[in-house]
Parts: sequence; structure tokens; C-alpha cells
Amino acid sequence: MTRNLTPVWLVLAHWCFAAAALAGPADKRLDIYWIDVEGGAATLLVTPAGETVLIDSGNPQRRDADRVLKMVGDAGMKQIDHLIITHYHGDHFGGATLLASLIPIRNLYDNGQFDNMPDNPGKAYFDLKADAKHVVKPGDLLPLKQLEESSASQLSLRFLGGKQKFIDPPADAADNATVCAASRAKERDGSDNANSLVMVVTFGGWRFFDAGDLTWNQEARLVCPKNLVGQVDVYQVTHHGLDSSNNPLVLQTLEPRVAIMNNGMRKGCLPEVFANLKETKSLEAIYQVHKNLRDDGAANNVADDYIANKEPESACKGNYIKLSVAPDGKSYTVSIPTNGHERIFETR
Ligand SMILES: [Zn+2]
Repeated sequence: MTRNLTPVWLVLAHWCFAAAALAGPADKRLDIYWIDVEGGAATLLVTPAGETVLIDSGNPQRRDADRVLKMVGDAGMKQIDHLIITHYHGDHFGGATLLASLIPIRNLYDNGQFDNMPDNPGKAYFDLKADAKHVVKPGDLLPLKQLEESSASQLSLRFLGGKQKFIDPPADAADNATVCAASRAKERDGSDNANSLVMVVTFGGWRFFDAGDLTWNQEARLVCPKNLVGQVDVYQVTHHGLDSSNNPLVLQTLEPRVAIMNNGMRKGCLPEVFANLKETKSLEAIYQVHKNLRDDGAANNVADDYIANKEPESACKGNYIKLSVAPDGKSYTVSIPTNGHERIFETR
């Protein structure tokens, strides 16, 4: 009896599978998801040509790997084509080993093993299963597939730096003396944060900046004396909104319109960072993965509409923030599907 039904189920299964598989890339948009990994980082890109790029992998718990898997599946994808680990702290590399046992990882990009590593992710991480492993050098480009139509916007992900080495200033890099005059150093960060990979994603004229947990004094080197980054549309708030990062020199130079903070309920979203973000005149909107539930939350939160998760620990549903860039790169939509928020921004 079951055998007689099989062809029907097969047809249905094929149809469902095909529909799901098309959900991500078919619309020729670049989609980015800030997956809630509770104060860690896991930023998933689904490209117009149907590839996935995961920047950081959340914490080691099953919870985070499951959230990444669900997001990849919900986007209609089946593998991680490019996994980028910005640096060797557990809230960034922690989920990678487990993830690699659950879903194919084609390419891994990181700082490799180097002398005097301040934080060693350990053998299990360096042994994780991936088809190819790449040690990033400043200036490297991710080999991303492009849509074949000649009119399609070009997509690129370029590393500007890592291990405290940065690209040479581009020939047209602006001299940044006015902004840099306000430069002040902060206590040196001896951990691996300072070694974070720094990257810019470009789609047509649209640009997104992700510097992992790069710390204050290294951030200054990105924009002083010359601006190595250019301007961007979207700024992933560095280091979850902690004040050992987010040097205002960077904000004033990059002039982002939208900032997205992957903070936790009690991590990041610190008063100094919040004040600097609010003083950044170019910013039109700030988003938070979590509401800051600390005592300083009254002063240091955006409007509820712009926050993906407002509940305390036990009730957190792990909602994500989605950003979707139009095929021509000229506008983008930021949404929080679970609360109905959706806002369109023009590319700068
Ligand atoms: Zn972190």
C-alpha cells in the first residue's frame, strides 16, 4: 500500500525541496542574517548566485549550531560555502567544530596558526572538517560566484586586514587629518581581539563593514592617517558594542547609515558606544539583536521596534535581524520578521 503512494510523495517531496532551495538566491538579492547567538557573532550571507558565507560561528553550545543550521535551512541552503572566523574567541570560533560535523563546510578562512598566538582555539578547531582551508592575507578577495547576467551587480568580499596587518592605502585613499586630530589611544588589548579579520562586502554600490572584535588602537590604524576602508552603508557594531572597540574615529570616517549590534542581554551595548553611535550624524538607524537588560538599559537601548529579542534569558526565542540588498544595490531593507518591523534605506 505504501509502495503505491510512493510516487505521489516523491513528487511532493521534490516540489517542496525545489521551492525551498529557490527561496534564497532566486530573487537576485543579497541577504544577510544576524543570527542570535546570545552575545556572540554569526552573520550569514546568502548571495544572489546561491552561495552562503558565514562570518563567525557563535558559541560552542548545541544551541548556536542549531540556530545557524536552522537559518541556513530556512534560507533554502544546504551547505556553508565560505566560513570566516574573525578571531579565536569562543563566541566567534566556538560553534565551528560542531557545525562542521552537521553540515558541509567547503572553505574555511582564518588567521591560521601563528607564532605567539594569544588565544589558541585548540586542535579540534584546527582539525575541523572543511574541503579547503585558507589563511587570510590583507587584500585577499573571497572567490564568490557572480550572477551570470551582464547587468547583475558585482558582489565582493575583501579582507582589509588581520593579525594587526592592513592593506596599503589605496591610491585614492583620503587623507583624514581632521578626524584623526581627535585620536586618543586606549589601553592595549593583548588578546586575540586585536588580530580580528576586517572585511568589506560590496554589492553594486552598497557596502558593509565587519571587523569582528577589532580593538580601539587597531581600529584607529584603519582610518588614520589615511582612510583604508572608504565609506560604508552598514556597520556591524564591532565587538558586540563593547567600549574597548568602536573607536569614534572609525564611525566618523566610515559614515554608516545603519548600525547593527550583535549584543547580548547583558553584553555589549555599553554607554560610551551607545553615545558615540548616537553622535554619528550619518546614522539613520541602529538595530540590536537583544534589548540591553542591564540597569543602564533605560538610557542605552533603541526603540523596541528595532530590537530582535526583548525577553530575558529563559524566554529568548533567538530571533534574527535580516538585511536584504536590492539586485541593483541601490537600496536595502532591514527587517525583524518576528515583530513585523521593516524599513527601506537608500544606498549612500
Ligand atoms: Zn566576541
